[in-house]
Amino acid sequence: MSGPQQQAHLFPVFADLHGRVVLVVGGGTVALRKATALFEAGAVVRVGAPELNAELAAMAARGDIEHLAGHFIEQWLDDAWLAIAATDDDGVNHAVAQAGQARRLWVNVVDDARASSVQIPARVDRGPLQIAISSGGAAPMLARHLREALETQLDASLGELAGLLGRERGRIRARFPQLGARRRFFDRLLRGAVPALLRKRQHLAAEREFIAQLHAEVAAPRGSVALVGAGPGDPGLLTLRALRVLNEADVILHDRLVSDEILQVVRRDAQRIEVGKQAGNHHATQDQIHALMLEHAKAGKRVVRLKGGDPFVFGRGGEELEVLREHGIDYEVVPGITAALACAAYAGVPLTHRDHAQSVRLVTAHCKQSADTLDWHALAQERQTLAVYMGVAGLDSFSARLIEHGRAASTPFAIVENGSRANQRVIVGTLSDLAQRAREHDVQSPALLIVGEVASLADTLHWFGDAPLRDAPAIAAAA
Ligand code: SAH
Repeated sequence: MSGPQQQAHLFPVFADLHGRVVLVVGGGTVALRKATALFEAGAVVRVGAPELNAELAAMAARGDIEHLAGHFIEQWLDDAWLAIAATDDDGVNHAVAQAGQARRLWVNVVDDARASSVQIPARVDRGPLQIAISSGGAAPMLARHLREALETQLDASLGELAGLLGRERGRIRARFPQLGARRRFFDRLLRGAVPALLRKRQHLAAEREFIAQLHAEVAAPRGSVALVGAGPGDPGLLTLRALRVLNEADVILHDRLVSDEILQVVRRDAQRIEVGKQAGNHHATQDQIHALMLEHAKAGKRVVRLKGGDPFVFGRGGEELEVLREHGIDYEVVPGITAALACAAYAGVPLTHRDHAQSVRLVTAHCKQSADTLDWHALAQERQTLAVYMGVAGLDSFSARLIEHGRAASTPFAIVENGSRANQRVIVGTLSDLAQRAREHDVQSPALLIVGEVASLADTLHWFGDAPLRDAPAIAAAA
């Protein structure tokens, strides 16, 4: 990989500072801000500086903080669990950082990520519920901006809700010892009247409603399967319905084609099982997928069968529903944006166009058998667009057969590799050099092939990522 060296990501922890000594070096407004927050967190705060500003002096007079008068000396670090250097003198700040480092003490130098071994995040404070945001020092303003956005979105009553759930934790566990049942209880609770009552500041009513829900009879869960289309990779292309179903899932059976970005937005505590399907090896794994769906649904789980694109477009969704129906399992289908639509959109290729194409065909040519059974005569017709879902290996014979059956060798194509993802590439050319272009650019799966006059519009209408590649790649440019 080229480019600047990647910085390691920070690891977030929430520190219990109650009763622990924390040293703040500095006597101005920055030190005041830190000392106040630390005091509120219950720390034993020592503020070291020749002089304190008026507010810090008042805190010292009240006994909220202890003043270490003078210039920084290493002994100030004695007993400390954490130190914050908040002076406007880089030399002093670095001295604190170095002395702390030698003692393996966590030190934060305010606004100096490089000198810090620990950073204080931007945070949204809702009582026991704390949301901390860090950009690892890369973009503090971005973190602050996000914090402000969250502040306006997260109701103040969330803190009270967290408090209530904290107090009732033992009773909830006793009533629902099983994780699955407990999760369903929380789902009902959090969607129900309790948060709404807290928002209205009706604390007693909220407590009563909580107790009522805790003891309400709950029907034994009924397992079900949702067949969900995850779209082509960009999480922004998930539907709201898909997101909702994913967030309620106990078990997620996903294809390899489902992007990591999408898996990151799904609920963390759901069990995730990758059911990788590879071309050529369909039958064995498809039976295993059926067995897994049945096993979990029969155990009362809410199963999501998550597929790339749309479940009913070359996704074997039909077969899976037939199996579920045979076994009397409840199911639903959530459509997704199929690769043809997404790749065309993200490459700037309108699939239909009054001047060029009045119809679109979605075609698959994943293996030799599927290619042999295609109606090549129909595929080679003019004024239509082909959207070909295929293994990259199949490209060779594809163009030859189309040309053989009458499609002009000059017909434009566009290959969209990793459509809608950060690493999307679009390769354009004409049918006659399709296979060669694909080889030159070392096209990898997943890739969608678009054939038809509309494909040439990618040159002018592209908007996402890099411009389409037309020529052979330049011989490795000097590093
Ligand atoms: N159900 C899926 C298709 C499954 S077949 C859908 O509706 O999209 C797998 C093929 O889909 C891949 O070989 C590739 O041709 C295409 N494909 C899926 N996601 C893609 C993506 N992000 N970019 C390019 N092609 C993709």
